[in-house]
Amino acid sequence: MATGWICHERYFWHDTGSGPLGAPAGGYLEPLRHPDHPDTKRRFRNLVEVSGLLDALVPLKPRPATRDELLRVHTEAHVTRMRELSEAGGGDAGDGESPFGPGSYDIAALAAGGVITAVDAVLSGTVSHAYALVRPPGHHAVPDRGIGFCMFGNIAVAAEHARSRGLSRIAVVDWDVHHGNGTQTIFEADPGVLAISLHQDGLFPEASGGVAERGTGPGEGFTVNIPLPAGSGAGAYLEAFDRVVEPAVRAFEPELVFVASGFDASAFDPLARMALNSAAYRALTSRVLSLGAPVIAAHEGGYSPEYVPFCGLAVVETLAGVRTPVTDPFLDALLTIPGQELAPHQREAVARAAAALDLEAVRPRP
Ligand SMILES: [Zn+2]
Repeated sequence: MATGWICHERYFWHDTGSGPLGAPAGGYLEPLRHPDHPDTKRRFRNLVEVSGLLDALVPLKPRPATRDELLRVHTEAHVTRMRELSEAGGGDAGDGESPFGPGSYDIAALAAGGVITAVDAVLSGTVSHAYALVRPPGHHAVPDRGIGFCMFGNIAVAAEHARSRGLSRIAVVDWDVHHGNGTQTIFEADPGVLAISLHQDGLFPEASGGVAERGTGPGEGFTVNIPLPAGSGAGAYLEAFDRVVEPAVRAFEPELVFVASGFDASAFDPLARMALNSAAYRALTSRVLSLGAPVIAAHEGGYSPEYVPFCGLAVVETLAGVRTPVTDPFLDALLTIPGQELAPHQREAVARAAAALDLEAVRPRP
């Protein structure tokens, strides 16, 4: 089982500035660093190397997405604006919380292109699965602007690339703690993409990702939202996989599964209030692999520089079928905090998402 690995030093040069927790520094807010700073991802990359896991992976060199490839999911105005701001020294992707510095157009194109590279490697049979450690993230970006630290919809661009190569059924499982609103918006009327998002209920974007958002027109039923209460841990996530994610994906019978792989549902994340640990991410990855389709995980959020590396390592180890000697130094402590077992209110939240599922709608037409 060869597993591809995509990363590039350029990803760490995307400069998000000095706005603490995503708010612009200034006035009484002392500059520190933006939450999407390079260290969370760089330390993940470094742990993959020092653990020895890198030696078991197939390194894949990312290439930039072309303008035409970005235009498959984004408006001309957005792509042009990102390029012009980037060339002028930087700007904001669209919501005032997503700053970037000089050259970030090229870095964001390399992020989307990194996921395209993974698609090509899977379709050519070079690898069975792949992890794309790309930056900036992508799942919040909508056709005409960037949102939530995202510039371009990396997975959406790569999904369109996969379709240009002949695939017609693609699933996205988004376990980033925030709603995958961008992927949803891009494919909401599209029955070729099953977009599933698990997220902390009511977190970000505002009023986004409720169970009633099920897709539109011919895409009705192909958008699946699983808003989970704050405090959810492995028990709630596994219940969501049992009752919603796995039935939906199995009914849809995808040729390829993307995972929008954020680690901001970890117990240490400063931007959310969930309780996952590395063992939970390992279990979720096994569940996705058990669905039988090739898996391409593309990195999204995750803002604990201490803990993202151990969660990420668990995911890549599982994709590769390799166990390194690394033990998560925080796991024992996290296994004892409250919220690991499924709680009744979490079971009810999952049941509401399950009730909104229409498995017949997503099955392939004979
Ligand atoms: Zn996130």
